[in-house]
Amino acid sequence: MSNTPPEHAPLVQFDVQDDCLQIGGMALIRLAQRVGSTPFYAYDRQKISERIALLRRHLPQEILLHYAMKANPMPAVVQHVAGLVDGLDVASSGEMRVALDTGLPPDKISFAGPGKRDYELRSAIAAGVMLNIESVQELESVAQLGVSLGITPKVAIRVNPDFELKSSGMKMGGGPKPFGIDAEYVPDVLKRLAALDLDFAGFHIFSGSQNLNAAALQEAHQKTVQLAIQLAGYAPAPVRLLNIGGGFGVPYFPGERALNLAAIGENLQRLIVEAERQLPGVRIALELGRYIVAEAGIYVCRVLERKISRGQVFLITDGGLHHHLAASGNFGQVIRKNYPVVIGNKVRGTEREVVSVVGPLCTPLDVLADQLPMAKAAAGDLVVVLQSGAYGLTASPTAFLSHPLPVEVFV
Ligand SMILES: *Cc1c(COP(=O)(O)O)cnc(C)c1O
Repeated sequence: MSNTPPEHAPLVQFDVQDDCLQIGGMALIRLAQRVGSTPFYAYDRQKISERIALLRRHLPQEILLHYAMKANPMPAVVQHVAGLVDGLDVASSGEMRVALDTGLPPDKISFAGPGKRDYELRSAIAAGVMLNIESVQELESVAQLGVSLGITPKVAIRVNPDFELKSSGMKMGGGPKPFGIDAEYVPDVLKRLAALDLDFAGFHIFSGSQNLNAAALQEAHQKTVQLAIQLAGYAPAPVRLLNIGGGFGVPYFPGERALNLAAIGENLQRLIVEAERQLPGVRIALELGRYIVAEAGIYVCRVLERKISRGQVFLITDGGLHHHLAASGNFGQVIRKNYPVVIGNKVRGTEREVVSVVGPLCTPLDVLADQLPMAKAAAGDLVVVLQSGAYGLTASPTAFLSHPLPVEVFV
């Protein structure tokens, strides 16, 4: 045992054979040949299935498990996930089209997000998709559009809670927020809702993303259920659905540990009993994005050049922040830390060295790994950024510097 700090989050998700990372039942070298060009993203269907099975094992049977598509909206991924979860959550009409293409019944799809355009609301109502209402203006628009279409829209009220999710990477609720309706105004909004031709289904309360602290999530779930019970007293109809959001985190950085799912499951079991006593017939839904797909995906780019500048080694690759903004540290991180990055075709290597992995963009922000120990690499080797299945390609500024788009494969 040494006292040196870990280089990155533990590499446990993919097998290594003959020092080559294995994904989708094949060696990365073979997959790269099959794809035919770098960079590319690869997502492993088996890993996604296993992750959902793990969730089912630890969560109460009564919980509805939804997938929040914005984490990874690749149609093949969404199609696969749709067969394993109870619903899909979308955040644009573009995502809604992919969700409907899966064949999932529209009443298992919900649509959240501020600033929904009329054309988005109209197509959601026409499709029979549930709308999570983010403001009073949106409530009025949905009611009017429903009348003009001759359809009663199905709605849930998204509540901006009066508490925050502690130790969360990105806060989505509590304090002033563009998301949802402030909890203190919800009773008035429910009164207005009762006068409109709307099918009230329940509440949507999501407080934050990328959380690895089970106690913080337990507390947020507890407060969310309490708030829903309180607000249900003002509702025009029984609360059938309580969507408590997503936000389960995955380890990216040195020292981070996987979430204690068992503790979260046990707490939810207690909360379900409580919720059912106070809100008979209610179903609780979790809408997870990152947790379902993040660890099943990798980003692969090729070393173009090993360059030494004043004693520091740089691996210049054909991939970078234009494809993977999060790995560069520019997507919601306060202090830049390294994602787990390895040389995929020599994971351990015979020689190791400390290197910085950069992309081809003319900006000092284009860093995939900063002074990270890894196998000594040369031009042609494959750099792999792990934990890249969520908030990767579609969360990146792909037009920046006009390089080609990477391929995505689902293996
Ligand atoms: C982004 C988002 C999610 C998913 O969050 P994760 O942290 O990826 O689990 C869930 N619900 C809503 C409304 C979102 O906007």
